[in-house]
Amino acid sequence: MSEDDKFNLADFIVTEESEKKRRQIIEHQRVESITKAFEELVAGMTRPYQRELMRMCYSDFLQTHYWEVLRRYVLLLHRDRCDQCGLTINLQVHHRSYDFIHDEYQHLDDLAVLCDRCHREQHGL
Ligand SMILES: [Zn+2]
Ligand SMILES: [Zn+2]
Repeated sequence: MSEDDKFNLADFIVTEESEKKRRQIIEHQRVESITKAFEELVAGMTRPYQRELMRMCYSDFLQTHYWEVLRRYVLLLHRDRCDQCGLTINLQVHHRSYDFIHDEYQHLDDLAVLCDRCHREQHGL
């Protein structure tokens, strides 16, 4: 067995500490990739693209790359929690007003994160 074949068994043992470190790395990568995607979106935003978004019906708009990137970024900013009850599942991004549709990326405060239930309540459903 050559020197290269030797490995330190301790490096492969999963401990609470190594798990914690692994999760931190994954979380860091997630934050980086979502932030980068948002920054690229903002940098690449053009009037023609914005006009294209404006022409769409709302349900199509919610399917766009623009909305997906924005949605993920807003969830990140709100730490993946409902602004009202703190729930971390079934989260949706809600427009506080409809004044900045297609321009949300410049008005992030206009977007809220709500769980399904709080969201329905917000809309009086
Ligand atoms: Zn909620
Ligand atoms: Zn809403």
